[in-house]
Amino acid sequence: MKKVSLFIDGISRESISEDTFYTYSPSSGETIAQVARGTRGDAKLAIEAAVNNSHSLKALSVWDRSRILRDIADNLERRKEEIAYAIALEQGKPYTAEALIEVSRAIEGLSNASEHIKWLETSVISVRDPTKRVYTIRQPKGVYGVITPWNYPVNIPVEYIAPAIATGNAIVWLPAPSVSYCGWKLMECIIDTDLPKGVVNFLTGPGNEVGDEIVIHPKVNGIGFTGSTTTGNIIASRAAGKDTLLELGGNGPTIVLEDAKLTEEDIKSIAISCFTNAGQVCTAAGRILVHEKLETEVISGLTTFAESIRVGESFDEKTTMGPLHTKENCEKMDQHIADATAKGAEVVFGGKRLNHFKTEQFYLPTVIRNVHPDSLVNCEETFGPIAPILTYSNEQELNELINKSNMGLSSAIFTNDINNAFSLAESMKTGIVNINDRTNYWELHIPFGGISGRSSGKGRIGGMEVLKQMTDLKTITVTVKKGEKI
Ligand code: NAD
Repeated sequence: MKKVSLFIDGISRESISEDTFYTYSPSSGETIAQVARGTRGDAKLAIEAAVNNSHSLKALSVWDRSRILRDIADNLERRKEEIAYAIALEQGKPYTAEALIEVSRAIEGLSNASEHIKWLETSVISVRDPTKRVYTIRQPKGVYGVITPWNYPVNIPVEYIAPAIATGNAIVWLPAPSVSYCGWKLMECIIDTDLPKGVVNFLTGPGNEVGDEIVIHPKVNGIGFTGSTTTGNIIASRAAGKDTLLELGGNGPTIVLEDAKLTEEDIKSIAISCFTNAGQVCTAAGRILVHEKLETEVISGLTTFAESIRVGESFDEKTTMGPLHTKENCEKMDQHIADATAKGAEVVFGGKRLNHFKTEQFYLPTVIRNVHPDSLVNCEETFGPIAPILTYSNEQELNELINKSNMGLSSAIFTNDINNAFSLAESMKTGIVNINDRTNYWELHIPFGGISGRSSGKGRIGGMEVLKQMTDLKTITVTVKKGEKI
């Protein structure tokens, strides 16, 4: 069995409590790793190490930090198959169809941060007073706590760790407990460089204990968190006064307007946003709002796609959709489907688990129609492989459907009318609006995050935005004294 330890101040060590827990394969149920069950005391040691070593990362030139990020990316490239193997094993997504792609994305994220940091410009500001020179600089915040979920166990941590290193912040990282082994594989790639000792510290253990200590500790200056809205709200209140970057849940509407001339590619892109990673994506098309005239066309296209999906074990080369990661996810799927059908929906395809696998976590891709606006699938995030179709006949009905959910992460609009596209895109209460493409279209350098006033978080990751977010902007004014030459 694999072993995962804590990594604090450059040294692998067990938890103070000496306790451990296990992670399991969602596909086979087998035990994958025995993991150190960190405690608040371990978190305090990791934070102390980050504080004490932060100066050594800050002292490196931007070019040196950029090179280290490039080296980490190269390590991932060299160990791509091994890391994808860990993801498929522990998270459950198909090795060939998805896990390898996740590693490629992580490599791209590291490369992006490595490049972008070189071009993070600040300003020289003209002022009224002729004796003054005024300019701004960006400085690291100090110690960043990074807390990540299980759905992209390598790529999401990179979305924070890469920019944190680039900007010179020391890190204390806690991955979701169930993907601790994947986390350790990424850590191996990080520490196999000449990154100064103790600037990236790795903890494992329960979020409400180890994570909470990171969140409340006075020497942690910023928190980068991706996870559920429930946990995000707890963190927002517990981290009062700190800088927080919160990437939370979504229930992105895909809107098909009456004027849309849907192609096969369009329908395919909607299906991809429902079923990628078995729907366990914050930007999944959690609900599809279709003008009644186009309902038949959309249902038929999505059903054809769902039928073509090969649900299977993570290492079966033909698998295009693996198991759901947790039993709770499956139960939420059960609950959302039961609730929708009780309110009048019809299951067109799927709607149940497959029972011929080693675990009970394999769900058929599901298409449901005639979904009532008050159904849970329309109001909350399902986080499973589901395409719920709701219809409307006029603008008012469409607005009512849109506003049933308080999530505000991403949305998609399919239309052939440029005016409709722009006016709806600008009025949507989501941080990302994709016109004529899927809700989960995103490239790593594009600003990404939820819109204010909704339940999908705050701040932006991606490209230059996250670099700005992870630094303090300092204004320096200089008074040039009389007689001095300038
Ligand atoms: P989760 O909120 O249960 O856990 C996320 C992390 O928070 C884990 O590492 C966990 O250990 C830690 N945690 C739990 N309680 C904590 C506490 N009290 N204090 C500090 N840390 C704590 O989320 P999950 O089930 O791992 O992930 C799924 C959720 O993540 C979904 O809602 C999904 O939409 C969301 N997500 C959002 C994005 C985005 O970019 N917006 C991306 C991926 C996933």
